[in-house]
Amino acid sequence: MTLNFDAKKLAGDLYDGGFRPMFIGGQWVAAQSGEVSEAYNPATGEVLATVPLAGAADVDAAVVAARKAFEGPWSKFTPYERQVLLLKIADLFEANWERLSVSDTLNMGMPISRTIANKRRVIGMLRFYAGMATSLHGEVIDNSFPGEIVSFTRREPIGVVGAIIPWNAPTAASIWKIAPALATGCTVILKPSEDAPLTPLLIAKLMQEAGVPDGVVNIVTGKGSVAGARLAEHPDVNKIVFTGSTATGQAIARAAVGNLKRVSLELGGKSPLIICRDADIERAVPIAAMAVFAHSGQICIAGSRLFVAREIHDEFVGKVADYARSLRIGHGIEEDTDIGPLISARQAKVVEGFISSGQSEGANLMAGGNRLSGPLYDGGNFITPTVFGGVKDDMRIAREEIFGPVISAMPFDTIDEVVERANATPYGLAAGIFTQNLGLAHKLVRRIKAGSVWVNMYHAIDPAVPFGGMKMSGYGREGGTEHLHEYLETKAVWIQT
Ligand code: NAD
Repeated sequence: MTLNFDAKKLAGDLYDGGFRPMFIGGQWVAAQSGEVSEAYNPATGEVLATVPLAGAADVDAAVVAARKAFEGPWSKFTPYERQVLLLKIADLFEANWERLSVSDTLNMGMPISRTIANKRRVIGMLRFYAGMATSLHGEVIDNSFPGEIVSFTRREPIGVVGAIIPWNAPTAASIWKIAPALATGCTVILKPSEDAPLTPLLIAKLMQEAGVPDGVVNIVTGKGSVAGARLAEHPDVNKIVFTGSTATGQAIARAAVGNLKRVSLELGGKSPLIICRDADIERAVPIAAMAVFAHSGQICIAGSRLFVAREIHDEFVGKVADYARSLRIGHGIEEDTDIGPLISARQAKVVEGFISSGQSEGANLMAGGNRLSGPLYDGGNFITPTVFGGVKDDMRIAREEIFGPVISAMPFDTIDEVVERANATPYGLAAGIFTQNLGLAHKLVRRIKAGSVWVNMYHAIDPAVPFGGMKMSGYGREGGTEHLHEYLETKAVWIQT
């Protein structure tokens, strides 16, 4: 991809290692304790900035600000005014898209070609929900009471929303939670990941510039175990919308029980990709490879279990391994980088552990499998795109979410067998099917238990199409009209006329 701007120059201008305050009630503030944490560039290890390490008291202050805005000025905004505001935010995002993309690339490593390409998904979300802001309505329902009694429903904003996001797509994850909140008239406290807190702070600046009233959007930087946990249990938060790991999702659901706040959870996965005998191999190989290697496997929908019809298994997996070896690994800020670093040394160790377990359990390492070293790589956490063949269903690499660049390929013989094996996982986030037989594709679509199923493609996500998981991949949907309902209460009204 050729960029039409100088990403490295912009990167140099963006962060200087200095302090970046968080955003509560329209004010830029430090943590009440004065504590800070460092935000790194995972490609180089360089400290980009320090940010406040919020404690429970900071979260409480944000909830007070969000409640005040919800009951006060924000409640006076008409749907049309919220729509105009969202459209203004979208325009500001468009004007600042290069900065937002560079910031994401610097703080979490995703190649700039990918962060730039997320534009439609993010700005489209703002405009999609701007459109929906004026389309929220209840319905008049004929009831069975005798006489003149009218009954109808109203859709009302749920209130103060706590949004907790992971580090792997900060701009998209922030907007996918903030846009529906603004469309419905809710207020938000967003807690970014401690591993990538910087772009949400830039987003807060754009919200302020657009004229979002104080307290409507608050960004609180801090640890999950402290700030996240306080938000999840807070008695005056009405809803938590969470994206992250299944274990954290379970902890949040437990913490939310105290005031029975609503919860929606976008969690992890171990998604199957099924390559049928009649698949278009040339087309499917790069898609199957990038279903995992995009963002070094650090994507929730990574299609990391690659089931290939036995007749074409060796040829197909060989080609995926060749493709893996052809990918350029480097710093995300270089425009020709295909694969960036892992987010942290901790995550790199986890992935190395999985690679060793694959080898010791007898899988066939066909590509990658090593950590890169040398002047370009020593500051960061780079693992080569890895392909294992001959994987068995009970191996750790076939069962657990790795969140790294590792494909586990396995042959299958019959459709019934592959359906059973594909579904034999606690997760149910996504799946891919490659076949030229449309009837077979429909049959598989019906039988695979996953929130998104792609046929002869992968990865497509759109503001108008619901996205989310089944089973241990969570509940609730983001995108589309279903997402809006998660931010709304239904009130039934009865009138004796
Ligand atoms: P994580 O669960 O460790 O952290 C996610 C967020 O939760 C962070 O902001 C963290 O600070 C916070 N958190 C941690 N403990 C908490 C607690 N006890 N209470 C409240 N908040 C807490 O996940 P991660 O490592 O940042 O991201 C990787 C995981 O996210 C993977 O499992 C991946 O599959 C998943 N993910 C899912 C989707 C999706 O849409 N389904 C998208 C991206 C990532």
